Amino acid sequence: MQEKLLKLKQEILNQLESIKQADVLRDLEIKYLGRKGELTKILRSVADLSVEEKKTLGKLANEIKIELVDKFAEAKAGLEKTAGADYVDATLPGVEIKAGHLHPITIIQNEIEDLFASLGFMALDGPELESDYYNFTALNIPPYHPARDMQDTFYINPSSAKASEGKHELLMRTQTSPMQIRAMQKYGAPIKCIVPGRCFRSEATDVRHEHTFYQVEGLMVDENINFSHLKAILEVLGKKLFGPETVFRMRPKFYPFVEPGSNGEYSCFLCGGKGCRLCKGTGWLEIVGCGMVHPSVLKAGGVDPKKYQGFAFGYGLDRLAMLKYGINDIRLFHSGDLKFLKQF
Ligand SMILES: [Zn+2]
Repeated sequence: MQEKLLKLKQEILNQLESIKQADVLRDLEIKYLGRKGELTKILRSVADLSVEEKKTLGKLANEIKIELVDKFAEAKAGLEKTAGADYVDATLPGVEIKAGHLHPITIIQNEIEDLFASLGFMALDGPELESDYYNFTALNIPPYHPARDMQDTFYINPSSAKASEGKHELLMRTQTSPMQIRAMQKYGAPIKCIVPGRCFRSEATDVRHEHTFYQVEGLMVDENINFSHLKAILEVLGKKLFGPETVFRMRPKFYPFVEPGSNGEYSCFLCGGKGCRLCKGTGWLEIVGCGMVHPSVLKAGGVDPKKYQGFAFGYGLDRLAMLKYGINDIRLFHSGDLKFLKQF
């Protein structure tokens, strides 16, 4: 009996070694270890043996069974491993690689950069940390000028926040306009550029106001530049943003760094100028501040105002994105809320 057991064990081990398929392995396991398997039968017959034989043979039979169960498990694991390595089910759906996308403000910014690049404008970048001189004084907003009150900002060293004394203190820029001066100083005249960028103001935030926002500045300086050039460029911008039917109009408005200054308005794209909730019943959307560059600003940029003239304009990218996508709260842009961002 002992001999028979050992022989059977060796027989099973030999067969195990050559098995390459899972179903053959399963059949073999049933043949020997199943309920009616050969080894199972022997194990059952141990019960009929004498007490003495039970002790030795019973022990051996159990040991062999445990060893074989392990070997089968090992063989099974080995087959599963190789099966995984060799077999690829090409019909299974792929694993989606999640990618982000551009922020709605960046989408609008890219569109505007493309448009102005096609008109021959450079797109420039400027420092967000600016000096009081570039942000205000050089733009014809001297110390004590009331226009400063409209643009309270973040001063970097609170103890030196004496903007009204006109010192060259550092602050977070309130507008992209300081780049008018820097661009003229660097490139001289003639020049055509736009400056998209982030600006800051010490604002109480609400649905229309945010302490951090985006503007686009535009500047064109050359000989014999006049209001009609400004109007033409802003008309092209409006048609690009709101469609070919868009009408542009200009109404006088004061800005310290232009003379004359104007408020640029586009016919409401939602109602076509009839008047609706978006345009507050006026039929017009106030979008852009613009005008002819003030001679003092040209001088600050190192450009001779007797020889050159220029126009400048600026508008909020956030506001454009809000109009384009129908967003009713400016604070959503920087909220980091994925439910909001995934809509674009
Ligand atoms: Zn309207």
